[in-house]
Amino acid sequence: MSADSRTPHRAVLGTWPTPLEPMPRLARALGLGADDLWIKRDDLTGLGGGGNKVRKLEWTCGVAQSEGATVLVTTGAPQSNHARLTAAAGARLGLDVVLVLAGAPGSSNSGNLALDGLLGATVVWAGDAALDAAAREVAARLRQQGGVPALIPFGGSSVLGARGYVECGRELLAQAPDLAAVVVAVGSGGTMAGLVDPLGSARVIGVHCGAVDDPVRTVSGMVSGLSGTPCAPETLRVRLDQVGDGYGVLTEQAMAALTLTARTEGIVLDPIYTGRAMAGLIAAVEDGDVVSGQRTVFLHSGGMPGLFGHAATVAKAEAALTASKS
Ligand SMILES: *Cc1c(COP(=O)(O)O)cnc(C)c1O
Repeated sequence: MSADSRTPHRAVLGTWPTPLEPMPRLARALGLGADDLWIKRDDLTGLGGGGNKVRKLEWTCGVAQSEGATVLVTTGAPQSNHARLTAAAGARLGLDVVLVLAGAPGSSNSGNLALDGLLGATVVWAGDAALDAAAREVAARLRQQGGVPALIPFGGSSVLGARGYVECGRELLAQAPDLAAVVVAVGSGGTMAGLVDPLGSARVIGVHCGAVDDPVRTVSGMVSGLSGTPCAPETLRVRLDQVGDGYGVLTEQAMAALTLTARTEGIVLDPIYTGRAMAGLIAAVEDGDVVSGQRTVFLHSGGMPGLFGHAATVAKAEAALTASKS
């Protein structure tokens, strides 16, 4: 077998490697040494506003292209960063994009939805229907019309998509060979799974955001698929303490994490994923899971457009504006 038939085709969509930067003022605010806390800037992946989905789309879109796809079909929440970046990938590769989104059109199409429109995607609202089934129906209809649809999995997460984060883990090892832990948001799980492959489960701390029912099983399944050997779920470090009232609902801890990170480092996080991940990192410092004298890396997985599509977060940020420093 030639290497080509074993290695899937990868479409280069992003700008690599992403920077690794220190966060000394946030580190000190948390009681860590100034050199203990670093940030991997996967919000700066380049394409379509950036974010972690670009790395996964390089693999899923690469295979779709090599199979002759003419249209990408994927699923997500209305403010899905993955949907926005699939729209951007389609634009870059000259493929049509259909986004099958949960629910019904709302009164405001801000944030990611506005960018979906700008990027030329077609949105199909799935109402209460199961997203996967709705996407398969859309794909069947496109096929009848003579198109060649490629289904990109929810959140871009599959064993194939997670390869993008195997790459990221290797980048991190080159940039910070002494790294003790990476803290990362867990949505559909491919990001954490990919990182565990090169870094090992002891060095990756995932923070569950409430997007899937069983994050540990979801991640361990992909880790097993990547390595070809079973991953023992109990070896994975997944914090379950930051979900609050559910995926779409801003938690007090996430808002506090957004505010502290913005005001110490000038870095903007998002309310759903990176805000929860930073809140999980802060909780990990409090309970001794993250300690001084070791290098901890926070993975910034992007999501800023989602902040503008999240009314509760925008309201709190605007209230802070009028309350500040009178
Ligand atoms: C999707 C997403 C995540 C979670 O990544 P998964 O691979 O789905 O677990 C984290 N942060 C942001 C900003 C995201 O859009």
